[in-house]
Amino acid sequence: MHLHTHHCLHEECYCKIEHEEVIRCKAAVAWEPGKPLSVEEVEVSPPKEHEVRIKIAASGVCHTDWTYLYDCEKGVKTLQFPLILGHEAAGVVESIGPGVTAVQPGDKVIPVVLPYCNKCEFCLSSKTNLCKRSWEKLQQGELANGTGCFTCRGQQVYQFASVSTFSEYTVVPEYNVVKIHQDALLDRVCLLGCGVATGYGAAINGGKVERGSVCAVFGLGAIGLAAVMGCKAAGASRIIGVDINAEKHEIAKKFGVSEFVNPNDHSKPIQEVLVEMTSGGVDYSFECVGNVTLMRAAFESCNGAWGTCVIVGWTEKNLLSVSPKDLVLGRQLKGSFLGGWKSVCSLPKLVEAYMNGRILLDEFVTHTLSLEEINHAFELMISGKRSVIRCKAAVAWEPGKPLSVEIVEVAPPKDHEVRIKIAASGVCHTDWMYLYDCEKGVKTLQFPLILGHEAAGVVESIGPGVTAVQPGDKVIPVVLPQCGECEFCLSRKTNICTKNWETLQQCVLADSTSRFNCRGQQVYQFASLSTFSEYTVVPEYNVAKIHQDAPLDRVCLLGCGVATGYGAALNKVEHGSVCAVFGLGAVGLAAVMGCKAAGASRIIGVDINAEKHEIAKKFGVSEFVNPNDHSKPIQEVLVEMTSGGVDYSFECVGNVTLMRAAFESCNGAWGTCVIVGWTEKNLLSVSPKDLVLGRQLKGSFLGGWKSVCSLPKLVEDYMNGRILLDEFVTHTLSLEEINHAFELMISGKSIRSVIKM
Ligand SMILES: [Zn+2]
Ligand SMILES: [Zn+2]
Ligand SMILES: [Zn+2]
Ligand SMILES: [Zn+2]
Repeated sequence: MHLHTHHCLHEECYCKIEHEEVIRCKAAVAWEPGKPLSVEEVEVSPPKEHEVRIKIAASGVCHTDWTYLYDCEKGVKTLQFPLILGHEAAGVVESIGPGVTAVQPGDKVIPVVLPYCNKCEFCLSSKTNLCKRSWEKLQQGELANGTGCFTCRGQQVYQFASVSTFSEYTVVPEYNVVKIHQDALLDRVCLLGCGVATGYGAAINGGKVERGSVCAVFGLGAIGLAAVMGCKAAGASRIIGVDINAEKHEIAKKFGVSEFVNPNDHSKPIQEVLVEMTSGGVDYSFECVGNVTLMRAAFESCNGAWGTCVIVGWTEKNLLSVSPKDLVLGRQLKGSFLGGWKSVCSLPKLVEAYMNGRILLDEFVTHTLSLEEINHAFELMISGKRSVIRCKAAVAWEPGKPLSVEIVEVAPPKDHEVRIKIAASGVCHTDWMYLYDCEKGVKTLQFPLILGHEAAGVVESIGPGVTAVQPGDKVIPVVLPQCGECEFCLSRKTNICTKNWETLQQCVLADSTSRFNCRGQQVYQFASLSTFSEYTVVPEYNVAKIHQDAPLDRVCLLGCGVATGYGAALNKVEHGSVCAVFGLGAVGLAAVMGCKAAGASRIIGVDINAEKHEIAKKFGVSEFVNPNDHSKPIQEVLVEMTSGGVDYSFECVGNVTLMRAAFESCNGAWGTCVIVGWTEKNLLSVSPKDLVLGRQLKGSFLGGWKSVCSLPKLVEDYMNGRILLDEFVTHTLSLEEINHAFELMISGKSIRSVIKM
């Protein structure tokens, strides 16, 4: 408590009593690392000695805020929580503590991470823009202090980098406050508190780019675009923008980029491309991402005799390695913090440069959001940093035509989505049917389309909100989701889940678009999956995480065919039952395997292809019947063979005539026919009398398995030798051979072809 007299906004107050009040306002609190921010009511204490309380008008959202929230434990030091982030803001002084002389209540200010005391040896030196007050903290990564001004729900909330601007009010040390022009637009000049000043100054002060220089800027986010602007202001003759996101080219032109290079368009390393383009390397390169691999590329893009690489991006995760020889011969390496500006003296000038039209700020602002939308702001920022992947996929341009292998663009995963690098994809009859049987009673899907739905791969990246899998996890993407929340998922009576059911029918993902583009056109997604592609994006509930040692070119079969047939039998048949399986393709053979695992005493395989007998024996068939060998209907043959009919029959083809035969092969008093094959073409007719007397008819979808929780167990069953998978794979082909895989399947020459990506 202090009774000090000082300036105050309260007109009636003459400071005879303690007048400063705790302010209650909204702030975005980070309760723990890795969790979204939560907008709460917080208490902001009055400013103490040499402190200033600021009403924040606008705060930019910077990648560094995200890093300290989401990258902890991934090499980034974990700060103290709960914490209020935010460090790129502008506002108005609300009140000042004792001893403050540089600003008054009502002044417009930018609170900055980097103080300027104008007293210490650092501040008095022209060699650095750091102040000794922050030097040790920065060295040790002490970016959160607990003596801050915030409490929430009775708990101390830590302050980030002395500023914490994701709050309606904050209290900061006076040396971290920069007084700016009273007419400045606060929702624009806030960007000068970090990103724009950093990039712009890196070119002007850090690189000291001379007129006529050739420059390259790596990473065209806010900092990179600001660096481009700095190069242009310094009179660079060529400014080469480098970004993996092709969409950045247009905006980068506005800032002054003369050429654009996308590393994904080149097979050789980007540094070689740049050295060739510039006949020996650039004069200055700027790394504005914070990635050590890119830093090295930026260094090696420089002219070998005199080029300078300026590190602007911030990372604590890794070390940067360069060749000492390069340094000896003349390449230089340096860094730049907050653009090399002495904060308190320089920022007011940058504000005026903006007001006079000498630097751009409006063009950086793509979204203006409320505090409540702050987590969305993070998503917008991160999705801009994730790249579009260009890869090969088999595109179905129109129904009835062979697939065409093309280069497609795969967008990054959105909310609750996962991008997967597909390792192998089985070729299933259903893929063929939706390509060649449209207009023959099968619904025509949206074209162009990427088929494929029986695959396994590795998670490449995850969208916001995904918690079940991480990049690097082995997974099976599966047609049937398991959200774990809907009425169906909570019931034991079904394995169906209703999540995204409607968008799946429309061949798009939850936001009604697909993640694929080819030749400038949207390409639709089949069954939320589209696995005939080197990469795909699928909803998180359609992803089953599996054992890290699983061989992906085998367990992919569990994504559809084998799980379907095996489960249809295993989940129904009792020990000692007599079974018949109609159709000995992959699904049928898997049904045979399920009957055997369930302890069936006889398993009769039925197929018109006599060659199937040998392979079917391996899976457990005890007898084989070829309908073509008999003049009477196959159901009569089976009823005779079993003296009354089988206990269970499985139709694994998807043909209504065969379905009826399977039904009529069952014991008339208790036999059960299970429909496993899929058809939309015809209706199945059976005699109601048969049903009344005891024959039952039911179906099974994906073997009755609840997908996300069951597939990992099936993978382990395979790894432990309890189920066969190798025996299904008769052909392993490349993506280019996919139409041949269809031919092998239709001619009955293959059990399963696996496409290896
Ligand atoms: Zn920042
Ligand atoms: Zn100082
Ligand atoms: Zn399938
Ligand atoms: Zn569900």
